Amino acid sequence: ARPVVAIVGRPNVGKSTIFNRIIGDRLAIVEDKPGITRDRIYGVGEWNGKAFSVIDTGGIDLDNNDEIMQSVRAQAELAVQEADVIIFMVDVKSGITHADSEVAQMLFRSRKPVVLAVNKVDNDERMTDIYEFYSLGFGEPIALSGSHGIGIGDLLDAATELL
Ligand code: GDP
Ligand code: MG
Repeated sequence: ARPVVAIVGRPNVGKSTIFNRIIGDRLAIVEDKPGITRDRIYGVGEWNGKAFSVIDTGGIDLDNNDEIMQSVRAQAELAVQEADVIIFMVDVKSGITHADSEVAQMLFRSRKPVVLAVNKVDNDERMTDIYEFYSLGFGEPIALSGSHGIGIGDLLDAATELL
């Protein structure tokens, strides 16, 4: 089986945007198991000759805060169980939120290798804002812009190195 990279983070940070950038058109068809697979999407990525599965979490949109946090937690836990490497995604525009810290705690406990990715770094001015994310404790953040397709190569270098 291919090694598995899971993209984890609270809603709206850009997980699905980056997922699509990584897989291109290699979306995997997964038989629907009610309640389990419908909120996770699988694709295939390839980088430097290495193929891997990619999991995008958080497909269901919820508008209630408690439900959102419950769902983020549950989906992140499932993805983490399956993953060999985790991409922890945060958003430079909002800074570190309570939900980010909760996800960080969970990822620490998992002891799996984590790559910290800061998305929405659309311009150079925002580069200076990525340093606060060091305090999450996962080392050097990788700056991304899903909208502009910036940083994807750096992200895949870091993630596949840990596979
Ligand atoms: P998810 O909920 O984590 O899967 O996030 P999405 O990929 O659905 O993106 C959430 C919103 O952020 C959408 O409106 C995207 O267009 C937007 N978005 C994604 N990546 C970027 C980015 O790099 N820069 C900016 N400015 N917006 C982005
Ligand atoms: Mg999404």
